[in-house]
Amino acid sequence: MLTANDPNRKSWLETPENTDFPIQNIPFGVFMADDDTVSIGTRIGDTAIDLSALQQLGYLNGLELPNDVFLQDTLNDFITLGRPTWRAVRNRIAELFDADNEELRENQEHQGDILFDAHEVQMLMPVFIQDYTDFYSSREHAENVGIMFRGKENALMPNWLHMPIGYHGRSSSIIISGEDVHRPKGQTMPPNAEKPVFGPSKRLDFELEMAFITTDGKNLGESISVEEAEEYIFGMVLFNDWSARDIQKWEYQPLGPFLGKNFASSISPWVVTLDALEPFRTSGPKQDPEPLEYLQNSTPSGFDINLDVYLAPEGGEDSKISSSNFKYMYWSMAQQLAHHTVNGCNINAGDMMASGTISGPTEESYGSMLELSWSGSKPVKLADGQERTFIEDGDTVTMRGFGKKDGLKIGFGEVRAKILPAR
Ligand code: MN
Repeated sequence: MLTANDPNRKSWLETPENTDFPIQNIPFGVFMADDDTVSIGTRIGDTAIDLSALQQLGYLNGLELPNDVFLQDTLNDFITLGRPTWRAVRNRIAELFDADNEELRENQEHQGDILFDAHEVQMLMPVFIQDYTDFYSSREHAENVGIMFRGKENALMPNWLHMPIGYHGRSSSIIISGEDVHRPKGQTMPPNAEKPVFGPSKRLDFELEMAFITTDGKNLGESISVEEAEEYIFGMVLFNDWSARDIQKWEYQPLGPFLGKNFASSISPWVVTLDALEPFRTSGPKQDPEPLEYLQNSTPSGFDINLDVYLAPEGGEDSKISSSNFKYMYWSMAQQLAHHTVNGCNINAGDMMASGTISGPTEESYGSMLELSWSGSKPVKLADGQERTFIEDGDTVTMRGFGKKDGLKIGFGEVRAKILPAR
């Protein structure tokens, strides 16, 4: 039972109106409080909650958790415990912080050990990511990029409507929100040039994506079916897959993305569980042609999550430059995971699978500068009058995401990063 999702529940912790983190969210993350200890925690409103302190003080007794499961610097061990445990922990946290529960509400001393100002703690990478896969599952994005890279006739490759296309990315350069990113250098082929040149990328871009984090899968050689796939998904984060379009364009054939992609990807720090997103479940786009049987799913497996992108020049204010939605994804997470493992490929706790750029049907909902500026031909206007075709040094890109329905809002906070000049 998802008692943690009870929309009528209120917390005794002060919870600002319109917060991304009402008591119905209960995400998981890793933070360092002022005393330099790293701990796994959750968040309600603007309060970060130390789960290892909560456990040590006895508030999680009866849940049969390993003693040190929250005294870790990643969520991997907790994720390994599986969905019934994640559920039991979220339910217990909801119960404990319910406005009517006195256990911790009336114990100031314990509160001092457990509760921190969410703005004062330093968020760290929530998981140790063993493997990272990036899909390409938004039809609008695939068509837009296809038109720009290959022309209208060859926009969508013949395989695209039959399987979730993806590539194996690199996990070493996935970083937490707030870390700056240096403009990458590399090899590019300028238009009409005879030979390639080397230097800082001139077409630096973001990609608006979300990523899901898995638990341990099955043995090598076995597959996860589309119907059982969500049992293996712990939760989701916002994902900015930084991309150097000029490097990408010159290198991507025949083996796909490489140095144009692997210099950095930024994620939001709080992992919102799939359970918390249940109220926002929706049907994805109609799939035509009908996918092969192993990709057919009787359960609606899209999620209605609003996604916004903001750009702020050095010292300037945020301008909203895109509003998209996770529900536009043609291939669902369940289909992605089923496809990923259909050949017997195994997965582990902490693996990260990104959606691919999420573009919607309208120009305002495109999920990259490449599409928003249509390959640099239509500059994007910012609030202060400046224009952008791609990302410039000193620019800060922020992505926010949230589901909202019947007065309930479940959000992801933000993923933010500033671009510094090339080293
Ligand atoms: Mn990507």
